[in-house]
Amino acid sequence: MKSQPHLCPVCGFSGLKENPRSREGGGSYEICPCCDFEFGVTDDDKGIDYNTHREAWIAKGMSWSSTTRKQPRNWEPGSQLANLALRATLSRVKGRPPRVMLEAAVA
Ligand SMILES: [Zn+2]
Repeated sequence: MKSQPHLCPVCGFSGLKENPRSREGGGSYEICPCCDFEFGVTDDDKGIDYNTHREAWIAKGMSWSSTTRKQPRNWEPGSQLANLALRATLSRVKGRPPRVMLEAAVA
């Protein structure tokens, strides 16, 4: 098993401890320390999708949200969002269906 950091599909933060969604589709219940999205709760329970949450996070100034996890040095939310565009391209190469939330980050 590779221990790659996991990418937040909302804000592009690449330091999630778990995969936000299991293969079975369940949320990880991890809260992204960056955008505050809780996988399995913000989406499943509150009905807020990635795009909506991302827009709100950007509108609020793309701030680091966690008080328990420190903001990484040289953290740049703007370039972090570019991770999403890159990842969308990669999942097409693998022959998976394009993921809408990642494509939206490009727009
Ligand atoms: Zn996030």
